[in-house]
Amino acid sequence: MIFRQLFDVVSSTYTYLLADEGSKRALLIDPVFSQARRDLALLEELGLTLALVVDTHAHADHITAAWLLKQKTGCQIASAKVLQAENVDLPLEDGQEFGVDGVRLKAVATPGHTDGCMSYVLSDQSMVFTGDALLIRGCGRSDFQQGSAHKLFESITKRLFALPDACLVYPAHDYNGRTVSTIGEEKAFNARVGGGANVTDFVEYMHAMKLPHPKKIDEALPANMRSGCPEDGRLPEDPSWADIHVTFGGVPEIDYNWLERHLDKVTVLDVRLDEEVKDAPVSEALVDLHIPLDQLRARVGEVPKDKPVVTLCRAGRRSAMAVNILKESGFEQVASLSRGLLAISRH
Ligand code: FE
Repeated sequence: MIFRQLFDVVSSTYTYLLADEGSKRALLIDPVFSQARRDLALLEELGLTLALVVDTHAHADHITAAWLLKQKTGCQIASAKVLQAENVDLPLEDGQEFGVDGVRLKAVATPGHTDGCMSYVLSDQSMVFTGDALLIRGCGRSDFQQGSAHKLFESITKRLFALPDACLVYPAHDYNGRTVSTIGEEKAFNARVGGGANVTDFVEYMHAMKLPHPKKIDEALPANMRSGCPEDGRLPEDPSWADIHVTFGGVPEIDYNWLERHLDKVTVLDVRLDEEVKDAPVSEALVDLHIPLDQLRARVGEVPKDKPVVTLCRAGRRSAMAVNILKESGFEQVASLSRGLLAISRH
């Protein structure tokens, strides 16, 4: 199985990518709206098809990317039936098995943080995605969204702690950079519910917590009840000047196909060394300007500011650095030619 743990720094949310190496079909657990482009870039770079997205609950701190990813890929949306969120293709009930070819999960109802919380256990019980029911050495709050400390205690101790001790625990959040735990570890060391805590220990602990109202709840909850569909039902507008694809590495790139059709609208900057240009010249119809990468900072004033800039080099690595240098110098509309001149020779 292909497995990736992704992190959204704004909401401290973990998104999980699970895919089958054979079928190349993937599912995402708890994708974040503002990270959809990142997730799509990773799926593309790994050669995966997104078939399903699933949320562990109606989040109060971020908007799910479920709807947006469905618009982009045609994937299905799964979430707890009791939530009754809109735009859901696969409403999940306790005990239901679901997933994609080669990656099967079982839904386990774990209410308490919210009424609609579900955890998802991998079919061999080697991993569990616990949402906000069980966090590493902690748990989700139980003071809003029909939360109940009593129910949460039952969910954790009766449902999750019934899993094998070696089962890896992957939560929806961590605010201290911890990435994974195990059921055995949490049974022993969880700060609220581990070490033989009983329901009184837990409930008293939870009730003594005084937490501020979640900042984003008024915006996030209604949107998440639509599976992340904006109120006007429209895709967010793409403000970019070109058909830009941001790689998982964060580089804005354009394809040669796009460049060929828009040569008059951009300045094309070749950042290869002088000797490379001599050995492998490129048509003047394509390249407007040649400044080797190691001279770019000093000579950035030579780059015209009237048009967007597309940087190119042999393989598309140095041209990505050139994008950074141009951005530092105040250029906003810049992109690197994907795969550089290798894209043209193979064209
Ligand atoms: Fe939550």
